[in-house]
Amino acid sequence: MGKNNVFTNDIKEVIINEEEIKQRIEELGKEITNIYNDDDDIVMLCILRGAILFMADLAREIDLPVVFDFMDVSSYGASTESSGVVRIIKDMEENIEGRHLLIVEDIIDTGRTLKHVIDMLQTRNPKSIKVVTLLDKPERRVKKEIDADFNGFEIPDEFVVGYGLDFAEKYRNLSFIGVLKEKLYI
Ligand code: 5GP
Repeated sequence: MGKNNVFTNDIKEVIINEEEIKQRIEELGKEITNIYNDDDDIVMLCILRGAILFMADLAREIDLPVVFDFMDVSSYGASTESSGVVRIIKDMEENIEGRHLLIVEDIIDTGRTLKHVIDMLQTRNPKSIKVVTLLDKPERRVKKEIDADFNGFEIPDEFVVGYGLDFAEKYRNLSFIGVLKEKLYI
């Protein structure tokens, strides 16, 4: 686990290491660069707080002018199961009418959070909405219609932390994605 030794005892298994994340983000950056035109007006919307490291690394792999914005959404509290009640804690600042919106998510699990965010943003009449997620747990999807346009990694139904993802606000600064030992959250 290299530089994150302080967390070694809490992590059961590393499922995606730092190098794999880096390589996949380079690929995603190229894919995203290819679907837009150089003169498109693109707003990259980071869903806080989990997507913050992904946003920072992905943005540097996109060879297009982009505007950054942020939205803070809460759906979990301190548990590991999405409640279905999505609260907008901080809305985005940009006016997205007639502009391309690229939503940057950490993980799609049940899909409830993203469904809520997309439905709300759709009413603001953007030119397009696309979603890029670092992780996807398709087995867990409740909102079947919700899918990412770009997906870093499909993962099994396990609670993961690291590279932005937390458990009770901890582990976001891990450089890899790992599975937490069950005793820490059950
Ligand atoms: P959904 O609404 O799709 O069920 O949940 C989406 C949000 O729940 C994600 O943005 C993320 O914050 C959180 N989440 C879902 N699965 C996991 C997980 O395995 N680990 C962590 N740390 N957060 C998760």
